[in-house]
Parts: sequence; C-alpha cells; structure tokens
Amino acid sequence: MSDITLPLQYSYIEALPEGCIEWQPDAITTPELVYLNRPLAKQLGLELASVDDNTLAPFFAGNGLPETIKPFAQAYTGHQFGHLAPMLGDGRAVILGEWLDSNENRWDIALKGSGRTPFSRGGDGKAALGPMLREVLLSEALYHLGIATTRSLAVVATNEPVQRQQLLPGAILTRLAASHIRIGTFEYFATRNDVTNLKALADYTLNRHYPELAQQQSPYLAMLEAVMQKQARLVASWINCGFIHGVMNTDNILLSGETVDFGPCAFIEQYKPGAVFSSIDQHGRYAYANQPKIMHWNLARFAETLLPLLDGEDSQKVEVLTDTINRFPDRYRQQLISGQRQKLGLFFSEEDGDTELVSQWLDLLHQNKMDFTQAWRNLSRVLRGDDTPLLEQVKEPSQLTDWLARWHQRLERDASHTSSLTDSQRAEKMEQVNPFIIARNHQVEAALTAASDNNDYHLFNDLLSALQQPFAENETTRPFATPAPEEFTERYQTFCGT
Ligand code: AMP
Ligand code: MG
Repeated sequence: MSDITLPLQYSYIEALPEGCIEWQPDAITTPELVYLNRPLAKQLGLELASVDDNTLAPFFAGNGLPETIKPFAQAYTGHQFGHLAPMLGDGRAVILGEWLDSNENRWDIALKGSGRTPFSRGGDGKAALGPMLREVLLSEALYHLGIATTRSLAVVATNEPVQRQQLLPGAILTRLAASHIRIGTFEYFATRNDVTNLKALADYTLNRHYPELAQQQSPYLAMLEAVMQKQARLVASWINCGFIHGVMNTDNILLSGETVDFGPCAFIEQYKPGAVFSSIDQHGRYAYANQPKIMHWNLARFAETLLPLLDGEDSQKVEVLTDTINRFPDRYRQQLISGQRQKLGLFFSEEDGDTELVSQWLDLLHQNKMDFTQAWRNLSRVLRGDDTPLLEQVKEPSQLTDWLARWHQRLERDASHTSSLTDSQRAEKMEQVNPFIIARNHQVEAALTAASDNNDYHLFNDLLSALQQPFAENETTRPFATPAPEEFTERYQTFCGT
C-alpha cells in the first residue's frame, strides 16, 4: 500500500458515467522513477517532496494506489487525418482522478502507457521510455515558452520491454491536464445521437472551463466562441515559435485550449512553411503552415456536434454555427499579428502595414533558408548595434538591409508613442518573446538515445534545464543553441502512438 494520500475527485465520471469505464493499470513489478517534475508538484501543492522514490515509483506506475483512487478510461471518437474513427478512447491511459489545487484549479492526473483498456483495440496499451521522455522535453519546452500545454509530472521506467519495430524499454508518463475533454469527446456522443449525454458533456465543459458563460443567453454558442478564441491563440503561438504539432486529429484537440499529444511534434529549424516531420503525414495535412486551416476544420467538426443543443430551425442553427466558425481565420490572424508585432519589437502601436512587414521578413527567411529561431533572436542583436549574426545568415545581404531599413523606420514610429524605451530596453523586451533556444530535434534525439539506450540521463537533464529557460542566453542554454545539420533535418522523422 502506498504512503501517498492524494484526495482526488471524480466530477467527470459522476457527470458522464457513460463516457468512461473504471479501469485498473497493469501491475508493474519493478517500477523505477526516472523523472519527477518537482517544481510542478510544488506548484500544484502535491506533497511529494518528503516521499522517497521507492514509494513514488509504484504510485506513478499506478500500482498500490490508495483505495480512494478509482482510475478510469475515457471514451472518445475522432477525425483522424480527415476520416471519422468512430471508436477511439483511452487505449493506453487511465485518469487517476482530479486534483484541486489551492487556487481551485482542477487538474486531471493521468497515466499514459499503463496497460490495455477496453478501448485498446489492437494496441498493447504500453508506451516506450524514449517517447515518454520526449513528451517531458517537448511539453516543458512549450510551457516555458509561455504556450498553453498539458504538463508532464513523472516518468517511471517499467523495466519491462515493449514491442515496437524492435524491443524497447517500457515506461509510464504521468500527465496533468486542465481536462482531457477533446473535440472527439463531443463527437463520441454526437455520432451516437446521444443528445442527453451530449448536453451533459456540454454543461460539464462549460462549468469546468467556461463558468462565466453559463448564464449567457446561448451558452453553447458562447462556448464555441471561447474555444475558438483559445485555439486561435494556441495555433498562433505554435506558429510564432516554429512548432509543428504533427497530429491535429480532433481527438487531440482539447476544449481547454492546451496542447496535447506530443507523439510526432517537432520544431522547425530553417523556416519552411511546408515542413512536415511525421512519418505518416504523407500529404502534409498537418504541415507547419497548414495548422491554422486544420484548426478551422477541426472547429467546424466541433460546431457540428453542438447542433442538437441549440434552439430553433435546423437551417437557422446551421447558419449561426457557420457564421461563428467563419470568424476563426480573422481571430487567428489577430492573434498571430499581435504575437509577431512583439517579436518585431513593436510594443506600442499597430499599423496595417505590419502584416506586410512580417511577410516580407518571412519571405527572406524562406529564400535564405534561415534558421527561424536564430533569425528572430538576431533582430534584437541588430538593435544592440551588432548586425553581423543576422547578415551571416543570408546569402545576399542587400535584400535584408532594405528590409532592415523599413523595420527601423517602423520602430521609430513605434518609439514616438513613448519616449522611455531605449534600443537596448526594446531589445531586452524582444528577447522575452524571441527564444534563444528551442528543443532542437538533433539534441532531443541525442538526449533520448543516451537515456533510453544507455541509461545515461546527463544530456536529458542538461537539455531539460536549458528548455526551462529558453529566453536566457547563458552557459546552460548556449550548448543547445546550434541548429541541426541540414542533412539531419532533411532525414528527420517523427512517429505517432509510439
Ligand atoms: P494517438 O496517436 O496517441 O493520438 O492515439 C490514437 C488512439 O490510439 C487513441 O485512442 C489511443 O489510446 C490509441 N493508442 C495509441 N497507442 C496505443 C497503444 N500502444 N495501445 C493501445 N491504444 C493505443
Ligand atoms: Mg492522442
């Protein structure tokens, strides 16, 4: 029996008993704690600091849980690569329960890789160590870049092999999420014409994520608007830091607006709108620059599920939902440009020409195969009087110097709105939005190989420490600032459901 007493709640299973199944994780004989996110545990008020690893390991393997903990697997459906998969669900995960932190925030605590469930279909319900450590690195990277994301609390090595293309060491990840309600969860009840549970889910989601909207005249429509806004912000923040999610199926889109599912994701190195790394994304559906369009498509699937919950004639309801959804591209563009203005150092004013200024900049990046992260970061160096690093990134400096002249003129107009910002202060503010480092694919792979193949966590820990301070330029981050060799990026592939 575990010494950890964790009073968890079960509001989801109480509201939607037909949307989940109580389920126990597999027994693991020799679990070993290889990662614990202590700052996160502390932030949540989880009292784990004094608990030793021999107690934590079985707990995070889902074994020897206190009797009050009743894990469950959630049902969901989803559009995968544009096609409806009517029956998905947690095939290799269980939710241990919900934790209420001291700010009354409700978190799902979930285990991923904890064994087969009634939703496993042909899968083994397991996860390999490398991909679970990858989720830690990438989710921490996003979090510290200020992007809404599910979090990684712990990883336990199971010391049992899992069969993939080869035998790999197994692991279980503990994931925290504001909730695991997906567009696919709504689709689950909608495709079954189960309006009672669909309404229960919509009311539950409103209450959990958008309580301020519950009193509106049309709360479900208001929720659609709010979800759209969150997703517009999320995708804009991915685009502005060069992140490709890689598998934006509707079952991987959370109503909370957090990033989830880190299987095939990756950051771009050189700026390339069509960049794709996922081994199964043959037609580039989830390519870097396609993400806003795909989110719009996903939100249309969400809107469709709400049809039976609205009042009025069908044709009217379809019109209202369509009008709402059609506002997404605009919402997205607003979020995008507002992030880009900051990246350009424009903190005080907005001009219509800003969009063109950004697209000319991005064209330069594209034509010159410039490293996306370095190019943005080098702009603040220019403000500090050193344009060499930026000019070294291009083949033909004259185009860049023309653009820099236009940018300087624009900065001057922005400066006239305030007299108090010097160039170096502006550079400093830009360096809080343009990261010095991102999770570069070659570094991630090197860290995972050392940890997974050789049980050597030095590189993993060093990279993680760096990713936890992506805007700082110091001895911790500097070793991870170098782009991958071009040949590496060209060959690099990522994988789903690993
Ligand atoms: P994902 O690609 O991780 O979004 O997973 C899509 C669906 O496949 C979800 O229903 C997962 O639960 C399920 N799945 C992925 N990997 C496994 C596995 N190893 N065993 C069972 N189900 C899995
Ligand atoms: Mg998924």
